Amino acid sequence: MTEGAPAANDARGGRRACGAALDFNRRAGAKSAPQARRPPTAGTPVPCPLPRAPLLLLLALLLTACATPRVDPVSPISAATDAASDEAGLIMQMDRYESELMHSAALVRDPALNRYLSELTCKLAGDHCPQIRVHLVRQPYFNAQMGPNGMLIVWTGLLLRVEDEAQLAFVLGHEIGHYVARDSLARWQKLKSTSNLAAALQLLGGGLIGAAASMGAYSTLYAFGREQERAADDYGLQQLRRLGYDDRRAGELWAAVWEEEKVRDRELLSSIFATHPASEERRDRLRQAAQGIDTGTMVAADPYFAAVAGQRRLWLDDEIGRRHYRQTEVLLKRLRALPRAAADHAYYTAEMYRRRARSGDTELAIEAYRAAIEHADAVPEAWRGLGLCLRQLGRDDEARDALGEYLARAPKAEDRAIIESWLR
Ligand SMILES: [Zn+2]
Repeated sequence: MTEGAPAANDARGGRRACGAALDFNRRAGAKSAPQARRPPTAGTPVPCPLPRAPLLLLLALLLTACATPRVDPVSPISAATDAASDEAGLIMQMDRYESELMHSAALVRDPALNRYLSELTCKLAGDHCPQIRVHLVRQPYFNAQMGPNGMLIVWTGLLLRVEDEAQLAFVLGHEIGHYVARDSLARWQKLKSTSNLAAALQLLGGGLIGAAASMGAYSTLYAFGREQERAADDYGLQQLRRLGYDDRRAGELWAAVWEEEKVRDRELLSSIFATHPASEERRDRLRQAAQGIDTGTMVAADPYFAAVAGQRRLWLDDEIGRRHYRQTEVLLKRLRALPRAAADHAYYTAEMYRRRARSGDTELAIEAYRAAIEHADAVPEAWRGLGLCLRQLGRDDEARDALGEYLARAPKAEDRAIIESWLR
């Protein structure tokens, strides 16, 4: 259910009415993406579709390798061959986590997309390719995580925000940089030696994931070492250049992350990256690093969009389902400036306004629906949303035209009976 849903089903927003009479925020067909359907409570970047055992959750927190004192860059595998060592134990636990993840409903199993991600990761990882496995998890937040066992997790919210292959390659290269530098092993060692681990275990054992009380502990766990982050960024940039990508795309990705962070709801930890206070600094540093250095020119937006095309409407729907509309508005404004997927970006902008339902939003929704239906690949639900919004404003003739067009374009629409009753 996670992947491969047909477009008409993906565009589920169209099944909701455009007035206060209906609950704009209640999501029809919500069963397919459990976490996207509820606004996360503060500090819940690791949601329930993932393995839940407390220790495994702690390991999940450790995945985002951003730690403490840097260790010598030796092979992560050879460093863990001593079965008695902490590292071997950690890697064993991480392997357990990974095998549970493989059965999670949140895992995106689209074969072509997974192949694309794996091949790109392999190119970036070079000699480390055989040790690294990339998994895509359906979560509408900007995040990627690297485990010390070579498990690289990417969340769908990250892929929604990435504009091209160069940007994705940077993120993957950054995570591979953490792996090569053994950052998460160093982090584990540091945590073990402090009271943070005990506090974290206590919180996790108490099932307080997501509770406000746990914020402090998570912040500590997520506290990225600036040096590790910079080194991972540098590694990512090196890999971009090695493969001929335009390394300026990295700074632009962080510029976009920063634009969303600026309007972030204060109580929301929207992602692990967002918990890091230095996105602005990171953007500037990456932009600077890309200046004056011989870099490639490959951006590869077309192959990237082709790879994610089958999933992207689902991710846009998940994004709106977060109900963090200020961030979504910033994101969609940026996406609408892209020369790709224009109909979808306009349609989901309209859906966002329709669901937010503040004063003036119905008019904004109508404008965006109209922009969507100018494109040949607009989903039928764009006419439905337009009709419902017009109907709400009492513009009945226009509403009838739009709803009639919707039924003509979606002959098997589930709501045909009710709409026909309106049209009579
Ligand atoms: Zn990092």
